[in-house]
Amino acid sequence: MKKWFHSLRFRVMAVLLAVGLLPMLLQSRFIGRTSMERHIRSRVQEYQYQCSALATQMSRAGYFSNTDSQAALDRQIELLAGIYSGRIFIADQTCRIVKDTFALDEGLYSVSPAVLGTFRGTSTLTYHNDEHYALFTLPIYAQGSRDVITGVLFASMSTETVIAFEQSLANRQGLFLLSLLFAMAALSILMSRFLLSPVDRLKTEIAGAAEGNRTEIGVYTSTETAEMSESFNRTLARLQQIDASRQEFVSNVSHELKTPITSIRVLADSLISVPDAPVEMYREFLSDISEEIDRESMIIEDLLTLVRLDKSGQELTVEEKNMNELLETLLRRLKPLAKRRGIEMTLECARTVTAEIDEVKMTLALSNLVENAIKYNVDGGFVRVTLNADHKFCYVSVQDSGVGIPEEDQPHVFERFYRVDKARSRSAGGTGLGLAITDDIVRMHQGAIRLASVPGEGSTFTVRFPLHYIA
Ligand code: ADP
Repeated sequence: MKKWFHSLRFRVMAVLLAVGLLPMLLQSRFIGRTSMERHIRSRVQEYQYQCSALATQMSRAGYFSNTDSQAALDRQIELLAGIYSGRIFIADQTCRIVKDTFALDEGLYSVSPAVLGTFRGTSTLTYHNDEHYALFTLPIYAQGSRDVITGVLFASMSTETVIAFEQSLANRQGLFLLSLLFAMAALSILMSRFLLSPVDRLKTEIAGAAEGNRTEIGVYTSTETAEMSESFNRTLARLQQIDASRQEFVSNVSHELKTPITSIRVLADSLISVPDAPVEMYREFLSDISEEIDRESMIIEDLLTLVRLDKSGQELTVEEKNMNELLETLLRRLKPLAKRRGIEMTLECARTVTAEIDEVKMTLALSNLVENAIKYNVDGGFVRVTLNADHKFCYVSVQDSGVGIPEEDQPHVFERFYRVDKARSRSAGGTGLGLAITDDIVRMHQGAIRLASVPGEGSTFTVRFPLHYIA
């Protein structure tokens, strides 16, 4: 499709032009034609009426026998034929033409069906549209009689003058329509420009925003553009927010990746700076370096997991899974970690629950919660995992008797690299990405996480997600 056809300006212009001109065109096309026909008919009728009056006069005066009145009536016949640009001839009872206004056929006999028919009592009227003339006949009755026909008035009339008149009218109308077309075209250009001026301004302002010259747009001259401006500003604000958080994420990533490397460098430099350092010192420092390398790998691994989650978007390998079994396996795997600190782990299942989940991802999400419950716990504490469901949702809660999370930190713990106690997280081997990963996975399952925590007493993370996956 042509580009101009998609232009809103062109469409508005075309609609305005059509609305303005269509009625006029239809009017001239249909009403113009019927008006010409009506005009011809009324002119012929008028002529016919005059001729009929003349025929009555002829009948009264006894035209065919009274030669005195004949001359006066002949003049009237001539006059009438002249006025209507027609021809009249009068035939007597023997069909002989006694008067012809063209003086061509006088003395001749006219035995045309029209004349003969009129003698029998049927007057005729015929239109010859192609040759532009009309014909009619009228009876001339005998003096004082209403039945005896003594002659026939035969009249023809050219319709050329009417047609010429109507044609000139149509020409003038055509000229008027043409000038109207130009005027309407100019008007529709102006109107479309006026109507679309807010859209044009919107376009310019959006282009300015795209080039980075403005951070907000505002075209409030129409309700539609005002709504568009507001939606655009909201989108722009979101993009700016995303950009800011991306920048913050990149700077956090750089910082996090640099920390272990700095430690490794300090450890290596210390070793180098000590000549003849004992083997024990080497062993100790190298084991510290190895720990830092582990940390670096963990951060990279978590980052890759996050990137993969972002990249795969909504792609989940969803299967129906028994949640009781999934949690049992998960706790069995983490039991040694809890045992090391004397933490008691329990699983309470209110019922058997099967849910449509991505097993690998959901296991990772729930493992992070249980690992945190162990990591941020006190020695000899407890971790209580409960599983429940209603007709719609599955609920998994992980409760611990650990250090808890202060209220002001609670809204931030799901942010990437956010840590309440940096030193504690570091010593516990945390990367600050675990809860961000969990949050991403739960959201992908159309679920949500709730956190309740009292510092010094413990925390409870509750995950809720639909039993049937909603794509
Ligand atoms: P990390 O790798 O540091 O554990 P997370 O994203 O898993 O990162 O958690 C973010 C922060 O939230 C942790 O550093 C910790 O301070 C806090 N946190 C998470 N879970 C718990 C919990 N069960 N009890 C107390 N604090 C917690």
